[in-house]
Amino acid sequence: MDGLTAKTPARPMARGRLFFANPGPTNIPDSVLLATARASVDFNDPAFMAVYESCMAGLKKVLKTEAGTVFCMTTSGHGAWEASLVNVLSPGDTVLIPETGHFSDTWAKMAQRLGYHVQWLPADWRQGIEMARVREALAADAAHAIKAVCCVHNETAAGTRLPIERVRAILDEHGHPALLMADTISSLGCFDFRMDEWGVDVCVGGSQKGLMLPTGFAFTGASPKALEAHRAATTPRFYLDWSQMLARPQKSFVGTVPVTLFYGLAEALRLMLEEEGLENVFRRHARLARAVRACVAHWGEGNSGPQLFCQNPERVSDSVTTVLMPEGHDAEAVRKIALERFNVSTGAGLNVLAGKVFRIGHLGDLNEPMILGTLGAVEMALELAGVPHRPGGVQAAMASLTRPPA
Ligand code: PLP
Repeated sequence: MDGLTAKTPARPMARGRLFFANPGPTNIPDSVLLATARASVDFNDPAFMAVYESCMAGLKKVLKTEAGTVFCMTTSGHGAWEASLVNVLSPGDTVLIPETGHFSDTWAKMAQRLGYHVQWLPADWRQGIEMARVREALAADAAHAIKAVCCVHNETAAGTRLPIERVRAILDEHGHPALLMADTISSLGCFDFRMDEWGVDVCVGGSQKGLMLPTGFAFTGASPKALEAHRAATTPRFYLDWSQMLARPQKSFVGTVPVTLFYGLAEALRLMLEEEGLENVFRRHARLARAVRACVAHWGEGNSGPQLFCQNPERVSDSVTTVLMPEGHDAEAVRKIALERFNVSTGAGLNVLAGKVFRIGHLGDLNEPMILGTLGAVEMALELAGVPHRPGGVQAAMASLTRPPA
């Protein structure tokens, strides 16, 4: 293959925009794309440093923290996961990980590989973990062997959320000193997260989801208590080392700073914090998510059609809806038709859900017509793939979108 001239293969439906309903990466607003189209500048240039500092201040607003310190790195979310562990733990330390789905699974595998002991709290992916299980585990740990509780705020594979604030309440109830860690990779900028108020000690975030940027940088937020734990933690680390970051001019970055991404971030933060307002961003996500759920519930009502994977209405995600296929029908066939016939990209099932579910991402730069277009294409794909469903899901989504807010 000639790498210089190789092009993305043309699809039959080549005109118009690709409707991108993946749960990450997500759509990038035009103004963010344009903001990243810049010539390189020295990352120590005072003009860039001002942009960088305003980005760090903006990120703290999105995290809802004043007390926290934000550390960035050029990596995807996996790098920030790793940073969250190696900066505050010592070899052999125990972490408690409630199961949520593929992403709690991967964080746990990473912790194990890095030499920590993982206390795993199994749970049903469709229901979400019962808080009683977390309470039992912490109550049983009188010796305080557990050094951190690692929670995936939004499980992108299952389309469920975990109430981090309730985990904090349980820790406090038992006077347990473990650090509270939150993976906010697919919740930040989509629904509420309050680092200071919920007493989150370490949070993990990435650029390519609610922040509406290209993939390329990720970050950890650290509370004062996490920084104290960091000073005592002996896991070897270098690039991801918070102490090393603090010693650099940017105070939160080792190595070359991806400057263009920071110009994009400045624009994304302006859109979120100034133009739309963070609480309105959350309202928009909630509105679109409700419409998607109304559509899926309609498809599956009274027949053996697709179902909402999440069975617990208190845990449904406002970032992504995972749709369970009826027995004997392949989710990949539906995704393929949606993409190839209708130019609509949805997310695949992960881990044990591969082929059994598809995922509709409704996070980031999205509005009502984009969601309706996506749902319409998916409904046509269900029809063409011969998947039983009740037609009219888009109508149900429209009814949801025009209903006055509760
Ligand atoms: N955690 C969650 C909740 C995610 O959704 C993802 C990616 O989708 C990750 C962690 C891993 O992040 P990345 O793929 O950017 O490395």
